[in-house]
Amino acid sequence: MTSKVAIVGAGLVGATAALALAQKGFAVELVERQPPRLNRGGLGVDIRNVALSPASRTLLNSIGIWPAAAHYDRMVVWEQWGGSRLEFSATEVQRKELGWIVEMSPLSRDLWMACQASRDVHITLGDITAIHNTDDQVSLHLGDGKVITADFLLAADGARSTVRRLLKLATVQTPVNQVALATVVKTEFRHQHTAWQRFLVDGPLALLPAPDPHLCSVVWSQSPETGQRRMTLDDTDFLLEITKATEACLGQVQAVDQRVVFPLRQQQVKNCYPHPRILLIGDAMRVVHPLAGLGVNLGFEDVDQLVKVASRQQNLAFPDLWRRFARQRQARSRAMIGTLDMLKRVYGLGGPGGTLLRNTGVSAFNALPALKRQVMIEAMGLGPLSSPD
Ligand SMILES: Cc1cc2nc3c(=O)[nH]c(=O)nc-3n(C[C@H](O)[C@H](O)[C@H](O)COP(=O)(O)OP(=O)(O)OC[C@H]3O[C@@H](n4cnc5c(N)ncnc54)[C@H](O)[C@@H]3O)c2cc1C
Repeated sequence: MTSKVAIVGAGLVGATAALALAQKGFAVELVERQPPRLNRGGLGVDIRNVALSPASRTLLNSIGIWPAAAHYDRMVVWEQWGGSRLEFSATEVQRKELGWIVEMSPLSRDLWMACQASRDVHITLGDITAIHNTDDQVSLHLGDGKVITADFLLAADGARSTVRRLLKLATVQTPVNQVALATVVKTEFRHQHTAWQRFLVDGPLALLPAPDPHLCSVVWSQSPETGQRRMTLDDTDFLLEITKATEACLGQVQAVDQRVVFPLRQQQVKNCYPHPRILLIGDAMRVVHPLAGLGVNLGFEDVDQLVKVASRQQNLAFPDLWRRFARQRQARSRAMIGTLDMLKRVYGLGGPGGTLLRNTGVSAFNALPALKRQVMIEAMGLGPLSSPD
Protein backbone atom coordinates (compact mmCIF):
# COMPACT_ATOMS: atom_id res chain seq x y z
CA MET A 1 0.00 0.00 0.00
CA THR A 2 1.30 3.46 -0.91
CA SER A 3 2.07 5.56 2.16
CA LYS A 4 0.34 8.82 2.95
CA VAL A 5 3.08 11.38 3.59
CA ALA A 6 2.82 14.50 5.75
CA ILE A 7 5.38 17.22 5.02
CA VAL A 8 5.86 20.10 7.44
CA GLY A 9 7.20 23.18 5.65
CA ALA A 10 6.51 24.35 2.09
CA GLY A 11 9.81 26.18 1.63
CA LEU A 12 11.86 25.35 -1.46
CA VAL A 13 12.77 21.89 -0.14
CA GLY A 14 9.41 20.83 1.35
CA ALA A 15 7.35 22.00 -1.64
CA THR A 16 9.73 20.29 -4.09
CA ALA A 17 9.54 17.06 -2.07
CA ALA A 18 5.72 17.29 -2.07
CA LEU A 19 5.55 17.60 -5.87
CA ALA A 20 8.19 14.92 -6.51
CA LEU A 21 6.44 12.43 -4.20
CA ALA A 22 3.01 13.26 -5.63
CA GLN A 23 4.43 12.52 -9.07
CA LYS A 24 5.40 9.05 -7.79
CA GLY A 25 1.83 8.39 -6.66
CA PHE A 26 2.05 9.28 -2.96
CA ALA A 27 -0.76 11.25 -1.31
CA VAL A 28 0.85 14.28 0.37
CA GLU A 29 -0.43 16.41 3.25
CA LEU A 30 1.59 19.63 3.17
CA VAL A 31 1.46 21.80 6.30
CA GLU A 32 2.74 25.37 6.06
CA ARG A 33 2.61 28.29 8.47
CA GLN A 34 2.26 31.02 5.83
CA PRO A 35 1.88 31.03 2.03
CA PRO A 36 4.87 32.55 0.16
CA ARG A 37 4.66 36.20 -0.84
CA LEU A 38 6.34 37.74 -3.86
CA ASN A 39 9.06 40.14 -2.62
CA ARG A 40 10.68 42.51 -5.05
CA GLY A 41 12.79 45.48 -4.01
CA GLY A 42 13.15 48.93 -5.57
CA LEU A 43 15.59 47.64 -8.23
CA GLY A 44 12.95 45.12 -9.36
CA VAL A 45 14.66 41.99 -8.02
CA ASP A 46 14.09 39.90 -4.88
CA ILE A 47 16.71 40.63 -2.20
CA ARG A 48 16.94 36.85 -1.49
CA ASN A 49 18.55 34.92 -4.32
CA VAL A 50 20.04 31.46 -4.41
CA ALA A 51 22.65 29.92 -6.66
CA LEU A 52 21.27 26.66 -8.05
CA SER A 53 23.41 23.89 -9.50
CA PRO A 54 22.72 21.93 -12.71
CA ALA A 55 21.63 18.98 -10.53
CA SER A 56 19.06 21.20 -8.79
CA ARG A 57 17.79 22.41 -12.14
CA THR A 58 17.34 18.82 -13.32
CA LEU A 59 15.26 18.06 -10.21
CA LEU A 60 13.08 21.16 -10.64
CA ASN A 61 12.64 20.44 -14.35
CA SER A 62 11.50 16.92 -13.48
CA ILE A 63 8.55 18.38 -11.56
CA GLY A 64 7.81 20.93 -14.30
CA ILE A 65 9.23 23.98 -12.50
CA TRP A 66 11.87 26.39 -13.72
CA PRO A 67 11.66 30.12 -13.04
CA ALA A 68 13.31 33.00 -14.91
CA ALA A 69 16.97 32.92 -13.87
CA ALA A 70 20.35 34.38 -14.75
CA HIS A 71 22.98 31.84 -15.64
CA TYR A 72 26.65 32.16 -14.68
CA ASP A 73 29.36 30.51 -16.71
CA ARG A 74 32.40 31.81 -14.82
CA MET A 75 33.35 32.23 -11.21
CA VAL A 76 36.20 34.44 -10.00
CA VAL A 77 37.47 34.11 -6.43
CA TRP A 78 40.15 36.39 -5.03
CA GLU A 79 41.19 37.79 -1.66
CA GLN A 80 41.98 40.88 0.34
CA TRP A 81 45.45 40.02 1.61
CA GLY A 82 47.40 38.13 -1.01
CA GLY A 83 47.42 37.73 -4.76
CA SER A 84 45.78 34.30 -4.90
CA ARG A 85 43.06 34.12 -7.55
CA LEU A 86 40.96 31.24 -8.75
CA GLU A 87 38.90 31.14 -11.91
CA PHE A 88 36.38 28.51 -12.83
CA SER A 89 34.88 28.43 -16.28
CA ALA A 90 32.04 26.25 -17.60
CA THR A 91 34.15 25.39 -20.64
CA GLU A 92 36.65 23.59 -18.37
CA VAL A 93 33.93 21.00 -17.71
CA GLN A 94 32.44 21.12 -21.22
CA ARG A 95 29.28 22.88 -20.12
CA LYS A 96 27.48 26.07 -21.06
CA GLU A 97 26.69 27.09 -17.47
CA LEU A 98 28.08 26.49 -13.99
CA GLY A 99 24.73 27.34 -12.42
CA TRP A 100 21.89 29.87 -12.15
CA ILE A 101 20.99 32.66 -9.75
CA VAL A 102 17.31 32.38 -8.92
CA GLU A 103 15.07 34.80 -7.02
CA MET A 104 13.70 32.95 -4.02
CA SER A 105 10.19 34.33 -3.66
CA PRO A 106 9.08 33.77 -7.30
CA LEU A 107 10.42 30.20 -7.12
CA SER A 108 8.61 29.59 -3.80
CA ARG A 109 5.42 30.99 -5.28
CA ASP A 110 5.68 28.80 -8.41
CA LEU A 111 6.18 25.71 -6.26
CA TRP A 112 3.27 26.68 -4.01
CA MET A 113 0.94 27.18 -6.99
CA ALA A 114 1.98 23.83 -8.44
CA CYS A 115 1.20 22.19 -5.08
CA GLN A 116 -2.21 23.91 -5.05
CA ALA A 117 -2.88 22.62 -8.57
CA SER A 118 -1.79 19.04 -7.82
CA ARG A 119 -4.55 16.51 -7.15
CA ASP A 120 -2.25 14.55 -4.86
CA VAL A 121 -1.09 17.40 -2.61
CA HIS A 122 -3.43 18.70 0.04
CA ILE A 123 -2.30 21.93 1.72
CA THR A 124 -3.20 22.88 5.29
CA LEU A 125 -2.27 26.30 6.61
CA GLY A 126 -1.26 26.05 10.23
CA ASP A 127 1.43 25.75 12.82
CA ILE A 128 2.17 22.41 14.43
CA THR A 129 2.15 22.31 18.20
CA ALA A 130 2.52 18.58 18.95
CA ILE A 131 3.53 15.33 17.24
CA HIS A 132 2.42 11.87 18.31
CA ASN A 133 3.94 8.85 16.68
CA THR A 134 2.91 5.27 17.22
CA ASP A 135 3.76 1.99 15.52
CA ASP A 136 0.89 2.60 13.06
CA GLN A 137 0.89 6.31 12.24
CA VAL A 138 2.11 9.83 12.92
CA SER A 139 -0.32 12.54 13.97
CA LEU A 140 0.34 16.26 13.77
CA HIS A 141 -1.61 18.55 16.08
CA LEU A 142 -2.09 22.09 14.82
CA GLY A 143 -2.61 25.28 16.81
CA ASP A 144 -6.27 25.54 15.72
CA GLY A 145 -7.09 22.06 17.05
CA LYS A 146 -6.89 20.24 13.68
CA VAL A 147 -5.16 16.86 13.62
CA ILE A 148 -3.47 15.43 10.52
CA THR A 149 -2.56 11.77 10.40
CA ALA A 150 -0.12 10.12 8.01
CA ASP A 151 2.00 7.01 7.60
CA PHE A 152 5.20 8.98 7.30
CA LEU A 153 6.42 12.46 8.25
CA LEU A 154 9.01 14.57 6.43
CA ALA A 155 10.23 17.57 8.40
CA ALA A 156 11.24 20.33 5.98
CA ASP A 157 10.52 23.19 8.34
CA GLY A 158 13.86 24.96 8.11
CA ALA A 159 16.76 25.92 10.34
CA ARG A 160 14.54 26.51 13.41
CA SER A 161 12.56 23.33 12.81
CA THR A 162 9.56 22.93 15.12
CA VAL A 163 9.53 19.18 14.44
CA ARG A 164 13.13 18.96 15.66
CA ARG A 165 12.25 20.95 18.79
CA LEU A 166 9.08 18.97 19.55
CA LEU A 167 10.96 15.67 19.18
CA LYS A 168 13.82 17.06 21.33
CA LEU A 169 16.41 16.16 18.68
CA ALA A 170 19.92 17.37 19.48
CA THR A 171 22.05 19.31 16.97
CA VAL A 172 25.81 19.79 16.61
CA GLN A 173 26.69 23.46 16.25
CA THR A 174 29.79 24.76 14.45
CA PRO A 175 30.28 28.37 15.59
CA VAL A 176 30.18 30.95 12.78
CA ASN A 177 29.95 34.33 14.53
CA GLN A 178 29.03 36.09 11.30
CA VAL A 179 25.96 37.62 9.72
CA ALA A 180 25.17 37.87 6.02
CA LEU A 181 24.13 41.22 4.63
CA ALA A 182 21.98 40.64 1.55
CA THR A 183 20.93 43.25 -0.99
CA VAL A 184 20.86 44.03 -4.73
CA VAL A 185 23.18 46.54 -6.39
CA LYS A 186 23.47 48.27 -9.74
CA THR A 187 27.01 48.32 -11.13
CA GLU A 188 28.77 50.52 -13.67
CA PHE A 189 30.03 47.58 -15.77
CA ARG A 190 28.10 44.50 -16.91
CA HIS A 191 28.45 41.41 -14.71
CA GLN A 192 29.44 39.21 -17.70
CA HIS A 193 27.45 36.28 -16.23
CA THR A 194 30.23 35.83 -13.72
CA ALA A 195 29.86 35.07 -10.00
CA TRP A 196 32.40 37.29 -8.23
CA GLN A 197 33.56 36.40 -4.73
CA ARG A 198 36.21 38.28 -2.78
CA PHE A 199 37.38 36.86 0.53
CA LEU A 200 37.86 39.71 2.97
CA VAL A 201 39.48 38.96 6.31
CA ASP A 202 36.13 39.66 7.98
CA GLY A 203 34.22 37.32 5.60
CA PRO A 204 33.46 36.68 1.90
CA LEU A 205 31.59 39.13 -0.33
CA ALA A 206 29.75 37.73 -3.36
CA LEU A 207 28.28 39.59 -6.34
CA LEU A 208 25.93 37.26 -8.20
CA PRO A 209 24.52 38.05 -11.65
CA ALA A 210 20.84 38.97 -12.11
CA PRO A 211 18.96 38.84 -15.45
CA ASP A 212 19.68 42.59 -15.93
CA PRO A 213 23.40 42.76 -16.89
CA HIS A 214 23.99 45.70 -14.53
CA LEU A 215 22.29 44.18 -11.48
CA CYS A 216 23.89 41.79 -8.99
CA SER A 217 22.62 40.28 -5.80
CA VAL A 218 24.98 40.63 -2.86
CA VAL A 219 25.72 38.18 -0.06
CA TRP A 220 28.28 39.77 2.24
CA SER A 221 29.30 37.68 5.27
CA GLN A 222 30.93 39.64 8.09
CA SER A 223 31.15 40.02 11.83
CA PRO A 224 27.88 40.96 13.55
CA GLU A 225 29.39 44.31 14.63
CA THR A 226 30.46 45.27 11.10
CA GLY A 227 27.13 44.09 9.73
CA GLN A 228 25.33 46.31 12.21
CA ARG A 229 27.50 49.29 11.25
CA ARG A 230 26.95 48.73 7.51
CA MET A 231 23.19 48.58 8.06
CA THR A 232 23.27 52.09 9.52
CA LEU A 233 25.37 53.64 6.70
CA ASP A 234 23.49 55.89 4.33
CA ASP A 235 23.36 54.68 0.71
CA THR A 236 26.19 56.96 -0.48
CA ASP A 237 28.61 55.68 2.16
CA PHE A 238 27.52 52.08 1.63
CA LEU A 239 28.13 52.40 -2.12
CA LEU A 240 31.64 53.75 -1.52
CA GLU A 241 32.37 50.93 0.94
CA ILE A 242 31.12 48.13 -1.30
CA THR A 243 32.91 49.55 -4.37
CA LYS A 244 36.16 49.50 -2.38
CA ALA A 245 35.48 46.02 -0.94
CA THR A 246 34.93 44.61 -4.46
CA GLU A 247 38.05 46.44 -5.74
CA ALA A 248 35.68 47.99 -8.27
CA CYS A 249 35.69 44.70 -10.22
CA LEU A 250 32.47 45.91 -11.88
CA GLY A 251 33.36 49.61 -11.72
CA GLN A 252 31.51 51.93 -9.34
CA VAL A 253 28.57 50.41 -7.49
CA GLN A 254 25.95 53.00 -8.39
CA ALA A 255 22.75 52.06 -6.55
CA VAL A 256 21.73 49.80 -3.70
CA ASP A 257 18.38 48.34 -2.71
CA GLN A 258 17.09 47.67 0.79
CA ARG A 259 19.66 45.85 2.97
CA VAL A 260 18.73 42.82 5.08
CA VAL A 261 20.88 41.03 7.65
CA PHE A 262 20.67 37.28 8.37
CA PRO A 263 22.40 35.72 11.37
CA LEU A 264 24.50 32.78 10.13
CA ARG A 265 24.83 29.35 11.65
CA GLN A 266 26.24 25.97 10.76
CA GLN A 267 24.46 23.07 12.40
CA GLN A 268 23.45 19.51 11.87
CA VAL A 269 20.87 17.36 13.62
CA LYS A 270 22.56 14.37 15.23
CA ASN A 271 20.00 11.95 13.86
CA CYS A 272 17.88 12.82 10.81
CA TYR A 273 16.00 9.47 11.07
CA PRO A 274 14.89 9.45 14.71
CA HIS A 275 11.89 7.15 14.22
CA PRO A 276 10.91 4.66 11.46
CA ARG A 277 8.14 7.09 10.44
CA ILE A 278 10.09 10.38 10.59
CA LEU A 279 12.83 11.90 8.44
CA LEU A 280 14.36 15.40 8.49
CA ILE A 281 15.50 17.05 5.24
CA GLY A 282 16.74 20.45 4.01
CA ASP A 283 17.69 23.09 6.58
CA ALA A 284 15.81 21.12 9.24
CA MET A 285 18.57 18.49 8.84
CA ARG A 286 21.56 20.82 8.36
CA VAL A 287 22.39 24.46 7.85
CA VAL A 288 25.58 25.45 6.03
CA HIS A 289 27.42 28.75 5.60
CA PRO A 290 26.21 30.55 2.43
CA LEU A 291 29.76 31.16 1.13
CA ALA A 292 29.55 28.34 -1.40
CA GLY A 293 25.82 28.73 -2.16
CA LEU A 294 25.06 25.16 -1.14
CA GLY A 295 22.10 25.19 1.30
CA VAL A 296 19.15 24.62 -1.03
CA ASN A 297 21.27 22.50 -3.35
CA LEU A 298 21.96 20.09 -0.48
CA GLY A 299 18.24 20.10 0.37
CA PHE A 300 17.43 19.28 -3.26
CA GLU A 301 19.97 16.45 -3.13
CA ASP A 302 18.03 15.12 -0.12
CA VAL A 303 14.83 15.21 -2.20
CA ASP A 304 16.47 13.57 -5.20
CA GLN A 305 17.86 10.73 -3.06
CA LEU A 306 14.64 10.25 -1.11
CA VAL A 307 12.55 10.01 -4.27
CA LYS A 308 14.93 7.31 -5.56
CA VAL A 309 14.29 5.29 -2.38
CA ALA A 310 10.53 5.97 -2.50
CA SER A 311 10.38 4.76 -6.11
CA ARG A 312 11.54 1.33 -4.97
CA GLN A 313 9.44 0.94 -1.81
CA GLN A 314 5.95 2.39 -1.48
CA ASN A 315 5.68 1.69 2.25
CA LEU A 316 7.86 4.53 3.49
CA ALA A 317 7.69 3.31 7.08
CA PHE A 318 9.25 -0.04 6.14
CA PRO A 319 11.71 -0.91 8.96
CA ASP A 320 15.19 0.53 8.39
CA LEU A 321 14.23 1.79 4.90
CA TRP A 322 16.01 5.13 5.48
CA ARG A 323 19.08 3.84 7.36
CA ARG A 324 21.44 4.09 4.37
CA PHE A 325 19.94 7.39 3.16
CA ALA A 326 20.39 8.87 6.65
CA ARG A 327 24.00 7.64 6.92
CA GLN A 328 24.92 9.11 3.52
CA ARG A 329 23.14 12.43 3.99
CA GLN A 330 24.59 12.90 7.49
CA ALA A 331 28.10 12.16 6.19
CA ARG A 332 27.66 14.55 3.25
CA SER A 333 26.39 17.30 5.60
CA ARG A 334 29.28 16.77 8.04
CA ALA A 335 31.80 16.96 5.19
CA MET A 336 30.29 20.17 3.76
CA ILE A 337 30.08 21.89 7.16
CA GLY A 338 33.72 20.93 7.87
CA THR A 339 34.92 22.14 4.44
CA LEU A 340 33.09 25.46 4.70
CA ASP A 341 34.39 26.00 8.23
CA MET A 342 37.94 25.31 7.03
CA LEU A 343 37.57 27.69 4.06
CA LYS A 344 36.23 30.42 6.32
CA ARG A 345 39.17 29.97 8.71
CA VAL A 346 41.87 29.75 6.01
CA TYR A 347 40.61 32.91 4.28
CA GLY A 348 40.23 34.62 7.67
CA LEU A 349 43.98 34.31 8.37
CA GLY A 350 45.60 37.72 7.90
CA GLY A 351 49.33 38.44 7.80
CA PRO A 352 52.18 36.95 5.76
CA GLY A 353 51.81 33.34 7.09
CA GLY A 354 48.17 33.08 6.05
CA THR A 355 48.84 34.73 2.70
CA LEU A 356 51.70 32.32 1.94
CA LEU A 357 49.55 29.35 2.92
CA ARG A 358 46.72 30.43 0.62
CA ASN A 359 48.94 31.36 -2.31
CA THR A 360 50.75 28.02 -2.09
CA GLY A 361 47.46 26.12 -1.84
CA VAL A 362 45.79 28.01 -4.70
CA SER A 363 48.86 27.65 -6.98
CA ALA A 364 48.97 23.91 -6.28
CA PHE A 365 45.21 23.64 -6.98
CA ASN A 366 45.54 25.62 -10.24
CA ALA A 367 48.38 23.31 -11.32
CA LEU A 368 46.12 20.27 -11.04
CA PRO A 369 43.44 20.70 -13.71
CA ALA A 370 42.01 17.21 -13.15
CA LEU A 371 41.42 17.96 -9.44
CA LYS A 372 39.95 21.37 -10.30
CA ARG A 373 37.55 19.76 -12.77
CA GLN A 374 36.47 17.20 -10.16
CA VAL A 375 35.82 19.94 -7.57
CA MET A 376 33.71 21.81 -10.14
CA ILE A 377 31.72 18.71 -11.02
CA GLU A 378 31.00 18.09 -7.32
CA ALA A 379 30.02 21.76 -6.84
CA MET A 380 27.51 21.35 -9.68
CA GLY A 381 25.98 18.40 -7.85
CA LEU A 382 27.02 16.02 -10.65
CA GLY A 383 29.78 14.04 -8.92
CA PRO A 384 29.75 10.76 -6.98
CA LEU A 385 29.77 12.55 -3.59
CA SER A 386 26.51 14.37 -4.39
CA SER A 387 24.72 11.32 -5.66
CA PRO A 388 26.42 8.14 -4.45
CA ASP A 389 24.06 5.68 -6.18
C1 LIG B 1 22.10 35.07 2.96
C2 LIG B 1 21.85 33.67 2.49
C3 LIG B 1 22.21 33.31 1.19
C4 LIG B 1 22.01 31.99 0.73
N1 LIG B 1 22.40 31.67 -0.53
C5 LIG B 1 22.22 30.40 -0.97
C6 LIG B 1 22.62 30.00 -2.29
O1 LIG B 1 23.16 30.79 -3.06
N2 LIG B 1 22.40 28.71 -2.69
C7 LIG B 1 21.83 27.79 -1.85
O2 LIG B 1 21.68 26.63 -2.26
N3 LIG B 1 21.44 28.13 -0.60
C8 LIG B 1 21.62 29.40 -0.14
N4 LIG B 1 21.21 29.75 1.12
C9 LIG B 1 20.56 28.74 1.97
C10 LIG B 1 19.09 28.57 1.63
O3 LIG B 1 18.42 29.79 1.70
C11 LIG B 1 18.45 27.53 2.57
O4 LIG B 1 19.27 26.37 2.59
C12 LIG B 1 17.07 27.13 2.07
O5 LIG B 1 16.23 28.25 1.91
C13 LIG B 1 16.42 26.14 3.03
O6 LIG B 1 15.21 25.70 2.49
P1 LIG B 1 14.21 24.80 3.36
O7 LIG B 1 13.02 24.60 2.49
O8 LIG B 1 14.93 23.62 3.92
O9 LIG B 1 13.86 25.71 4.63
P2 LIG B 1 13.07 27.09 4.69
O10 LIG B 1 13.28 27.90 3.46
O11 LIG B 1 13.44 27.72 5.98
O12 LIG B 1 11.54 26.68 4.70
C14 LIG B 1 10.92 26.16 5.84
C15 LIG B 1 9.41 26.33 5.70
O13 LIG B 1 8.78 25.73 6.82
C16 LIG B 1 7.76 26.58 7.30
N5 LIG B 1 7.59 26.29 8.73
C17 LIG B 1 8.49 26.49 9.71
N6 LIG B 1 8.00 26.09 10.89
C18 LIG B 1 6.74 25.62 10.65
C19 LIG B 1 5.73 25.08 11.48
N7 LIG B 1 5.89 24.95 12.79
N8 LIG B 1 4.55 24.70 10.91
C20 LIG B 1 4.37 24.85 9.57
N9 LIG B 1 5.31 25.37 8.74
C21 LIG B 1 6.48 25.74 9.27
C22 LIG B 1 8.28 27.98 7.03
O14 LIG B 1 7.23 28.94 6.97
C23 LIG B 1 8.98 27.79 5.69
O15 LIG B 1 8.10 28.01 4.60
C24 LIG B 1 21.43 31.04 1.60
C25 LIG B 1 21.05 31.39 2.91
C26 LIG B 1 21.29 32.69 3.35
C27 LIG B 1 20.90 33.06 4.77
